[in-house]
Amino acid sequence: MLRDSYGRVATDLRVSLTDKCNLRCTYCMPPEGLDWLPKPELLTADEIVRLVAIGVERLGVTEVRYTGGEPLLRRELVDIVARTAALSPRPEVMLTTNGIGLARLAAPLAEAGLDRVNVSLDTLERDTFKRLAHRDRFDDVIAGLAAADAAGLRPVKVNTVLMRGINDHEAPALLRYCLKQGYELRFIEQMPLDAQHGWSRKDMVTADEILAMLKAEFDLRPDDPEERGSAPAERFLVDGGPERVGVIGSVTRPFCGACDRVRLTADGQVRNCLFAREESDLKTAMRDGAGDDELAARWIAAVATKLPGHGIDDPAFLQPARPMSAIGG
Ligand code: SAM
Repeated sequence: MLRDSYGRVATDLRVSLTDKCNLRCTYCMPPEGLDWLPKPELLTADEIVRLVAIGVERLGVTEVRYTGGEPLLRRELVDIVARTAALSPRPEVMLTTNGIGLARLAAPLAEAGLDRVNVSLDTLERDTFKRLAHRDRFDDVIAGLAAADAAGLRPVKVNTVLMRGINDHEAPALLRYCLKQGYELRFIEQMPLDAQHGWSRKDMVTADEILAMLKAEFDLRPDDPEERGSAPAERFLVDGGPERVGVIGSVTRPFCGACDRVRLTADGQVRNCLFAREESDLKTAMRDGAGDDELAARWIAAVATKLPGHGIDDPAFLQPARPMSAIGG
């Protein structure tokens, strides 16, 4: 088991398939992009599946979420999903994506065994999309969402980051849209994980503010806390339910005490927290010939040192060297 010294057990593995992305969301990376990882540094599909298999078959991982960067940019994605879904015990297989290309890939991914999908959508206004993501791809995202729903990747979840003065006026409209389409919306507080180090607490739209904006138009009642478990989203029944909306207050309402997540970067580093400043290099060990026992032992040791919390509120907090796009959100 992947148990840390505070008794938390990691069962939810998030695997970044690439650090590259075809959007440039301002809270994530600069318009000109970043220095991408050199190809030889990226895990191959076989290496990814080998490490995921160790996680699932030996270390108690029950959920595998592929992310990035943008995971749909990885050509072998359908094959990686199929090989993940074939593991025993079968893990839940999920994807976090910006939706560009999902119109074409949703059906083959569902057929390969993908269970569910989270699609990022921050705005319903084409011009705001262009301003926020520096690319004119709004229609592709909307088409990707519809294709995911049609392929049965339900419940389709929508991830939204609100930015003050840019899209924060859209919270109720986004919820109305998702209710109408049958998608489950979750707002994520902006975290200090952008490559430009431009995050500031005063500009961040807080969970309290998001809830106040929604409550002006909807009746929100907290969902059964038992249902939440280790999920990052605090969920609320909308207008009596059964529809729900989630708020992920990573900064102002941290949920580190219930965290069950562990991450594997596209270049084969285990990270025990989004905000970790240390990593454990499974790729080099694997390429130097380490067997599955040794890789599992390294992974167990990496999780054992997980800190009790992300420490954003600590005056000594330092943003991790890797931006979100290179960690895997
Ligand atoms: N490209 C995919 C996507 O757009 O969903 C997967 C990777 S992206 C890093 C995963 C999620 O992290 C997205 O929902 C994105 O909005 C969110 N995200 C990125 N940077 C963030 C930040 N600084 N704070 C909060 N969420 C962030």
